[in-house]
Amino acid sequence: MKIVSVVEEMKHISRSLHVENKSIGFVPTMGALHDGHLSLIKEAAKYNDYVVVSIFINPIQFDEKKDLLAYPADILRDLEIAKKIGVSVVFKPTVNEMYPSGFCTFVDTEGLPQNLCGSNRSGHFKGVSTVVVKLFNIVKPEIAYFGEKDFQQAVIVTRLVKDLGMDVKIAVLPTVRADDGLALSSRNVRLSGLERGDALCLFEAIKNAKMLVASGVTDATSIKKSCLRIINAKKSVKKVDYVSVVNRDTLLDVPFIDESALLAMAIWVGETRLIDNCSFAECIV
Ligand code: AMP
Repeated sequence: MKIVSVVEEMKHISRSLHVENKSIGFVPTMGALHDGHLSLIKEAAKYNDYVVVSIFINPIQFDEKKDLLAYPADILRDLEIAKKIGVSVVFKPTVNEMYPSGFCTFVDTEGLPQNLCGSNRSGHFKGVSTVVVKLFNIVKPEIAYFGEKDFQQAVIVTRLVKDLGMDVKIAVLPTVRADDGLALSSRNVRLSGLERGDALCLFEAIKNAKMLVASGVTDATSIKKSCLRIINAKKSVKKVDYVSVVNRDTLLDVPFIDESALLAMAIWVGETRLIDNCSFAECIV
């Protein structure tokens, strides 16, 4: 496994692989690798000759400095995991390598980032879009892999690739969960024992919403109310950023549940912001 920190070196490797007609599957991450990341890496390995994983805690997508400073990082552990699973190249640039002095070009999608996480995290998706475009230009993948857990991010990346005519396919894979249902996230390590228990309210809300839809409830307001009841019953839930029912493509609020509806939630458990979502196609009666 190659470990690369310099942009020009990564570009050189990508160019050489293309000359040899080899395909590159790319998994962008912020590190603290877990089974959710590994599911993307395994899928990339299945369909590509080489797998590149980037590990970069992107400062420009953090709206709060406190959140950036507290973001979990363990590069040695990550490199060990990546090597074991058969990653070909880990690209782990420094902040200065990605954003050298004078950097002033940003990518923004209009509209899509305005609700859900966009409304609570000012500038977040501009930071995400900018780093993703830059990473795609450096790594030059055939296919890039993203998780459904960050649904809005996947929608925005899919949109910007289409709008900018970029030559990369976007694959979006299902959320990997712990045995009890909590969506895996690098941030979960920050939860105390009590908070870890209370964080399960997101999965409980999803299960309950699916049960309601399976029993014939299609009114989004009732679904959201029942989710909020479950979430607000937990002591460690400090704040609810949103509980929304939106259209999967436009991310705009919808009044009724149908095949294209997505339940999306973001809450603070203690000092940790967690998100989760689900679709209903399989439970609509
Ligand atoms: P992150 O390191 O949190 O920026 O995530 C890197 C990629 O892994 C993103 O595309 C995420 O959507 C994806 N990811 C994070 N958690 C999960 C999960 N539990 N299941 C599947 N994919 C995930």
